[in-house]
Amino acid sequence: MDDLASRLARVRERIASAARRAGRDPDAITLVAVTKTVPAEVVVAAHTLGLTHFGENRVEEAQEKIPAVARLLESSQRQTAGDQLPTAHCLLPTICWHMIGHVQSRKAREVVACFDWVHSVDSLKLARRLSRFAQEAGRTLPVLLEVNISGEPTKYGFPLGGWPDDRGQAEAFLDAVGDILALPALRLEGLMTIAPLVPDPEEARPTFRRLRALRDALAERFPTVAWAHLSMGMTDDFEAAVEEGATLVRIGRAIFGERPPDT
Ligand SMILES: *Cc1c(COP(=O)(O)O)cnc(C)c1O
Repeated sequence: MDDLASRLARVRERIASAARRAGRDPDAITLVAVTKTVPAEVVVAAHTLGLTHFGENRVEEAQEKIPAVARLLESSQRQTAGDQLPTAHCLLPTICWHMIGHVQSRKAREVVACFDWVHSVDSLKLARRLSRFAQEAGRTLPVLLEVNISGEPTKYGFPLGGWPDDRGQAEAFLDAVGDILALPALRLEGLMTIAPLVPDPEEARPTFRRLRALRDALAERFPTVAWAHLSMGMTDDFEAAVEEGATLVRIGRAIFGERPPDT
């Protein structure tokens, strides 16, 4: 717990310093603590330290962990009833769960059932299914479009490695954005990307700049959308991401420690 508390404090300081270096308000950045492989008890401990946004990348893991966290919180809240402020859009009153990993379209129903936000909408097909299940559930689901703006072949996301020069790629994406905007139960909040794994975070910076430039281009083309959010930055590169305009940073290892390999 002490370790968790001090690591979290350090991450918060680093986010705040990066924000100030860029002349930004640190409160404009939401820390999404990435809890893949982290047990429910540790999620609850992190929540006790003030974290309210959590990210998971696998539906199966989330389907077990999210209810487990809810049960643990309910039993502790029964002892301290009455001091919780409900938030508007979250399934659990005090926690917002973010889906950050690739979602197969056939898992859309489960994702809507578990998550408050989806960062990883990477196809029109997935968007349609998420909208359908959200509508059935009587919800509006906030989503981000995941874009592969670094052009790495193994990466998920709308392919935009050639943006802005590759007109075909850009037009295909803009068509998809138009169609997604017409879906009744999604609320498009912005963009998400994963920067290349590079030894020096400075090498990730151009990817973050490109994401912000893409957002600015979309805001001109689709001015009715706020395009408020940029989900970018992880343990190895979040300071550069904050300097370049991230509003959501997805951080796992810097808070919870190293994960077992291949997670
Ligand atoms: C695991 C993961 C993260 C967090 O990675 P860390 O290096 O542990 O900070 C962020 N985003 C996505 C999509 C992830 O899968």
